[in-house]
Amino acid sequence: MANIKKRLDCNVPGDFFVDASCIDCDICREIAPSIFGDGKGTACVVKQPQEQEEREKALMALLSCPVSAIGTLKKEGIRQVIEKFPIQIEDGVYRCGLSSRKSYGAMSYFVLHPEGNWMIDSPRENAHLLRNIKKLGGIKYIFLTHEDDVADAEFYAKAFSAKVIIHEKDAHAYPHADIILSGDQPVSIGEFTLIPTPGHTAGHTVALYRNFLFTGDHLWYSPSKKSLHASKEYCWYSWEEQIRSLEKLLHFRFEWILPGHGRSVKMKEEDIKRQIKELIKRV
Ligand code: SF4
Repeated sequence: MANIKKRLDCNVPGDFFVDASCIDCDICREIAPSIFGDGKGTACVVKQPQEQEEREKALMALLSCPVSAIGTLKKEGIRQVIEKFPIQIEDGVYRCGLSSRKSYGAMSYFVLHPEGNWMIDSPRENAHLLRNIKKLGGIKYIFLTHEDDVADAEFYAKAFSAKVIIHEKDAHAYPHADIILSGDQPVSIGEFTLIPTPGHTAGHTVALYRNFLFTGDHLWYSPSKKSLHASKEYCWYSWEEQIRSLEKLLHFRFEWILPGHGRSVKMKEEDIKRQIKELIKRV
């Protein structure tokens, strides 16, 4: 639990607060953007929840924080909110929440599908989430975008006998994966197209499902820049390859960008393509 003695000065007065253990992973600002904003290298509570819906979102952020840096003095409603994970985004696509410190708080996703459900990257091990996913039909495939966001995939894979998918160049992070991708050409599994996008890591791969692109750490939305963004600073393998991988995405159609880190966004397909082209020129 967050420590009230370490409450940051940037929080507005009131029930919810962020403490000094925050690692600035961004998940609270993604889940409850009206409540959490920017401090100096941390998140901070910029507005206390006023209505029940806002309180629920603040509690979802509290539960999702990978380092338990968010606190509430009242502590009301936590038990009820844990039952609301995974959180539906749109059309059977969910955010898992409950991020893991092992993946630096990366976001993970769950897709409900009649031919078997998918998990994209992994949340932390959590018995409530496991039970809720079981009620939704379990998991057939766990797709790992790259080596950094494996977190507790093994826990969910074992629980549901799910097949784990990762690219061979990042497979050292999950050596006993069931499906090892190779090369740089897209691979289709049912309605999913797995597109190798080397750059952030050598085996980084994104997943396209209908109009949703699960981008791992390849591409995300930056609210401060009001545009799509990729980071040379956080590129561990090859920035030149990452730019080529961004160009590759121009051949696909999608409206949602659902990243591991950074913010998600829904835009018209033509706006996404324009912004990717502008990003490539800018960098
Ligand atoms: S979720 Fe937790 S660690 Fe991440 S930015 Fe918010 S308070 Fe900080």
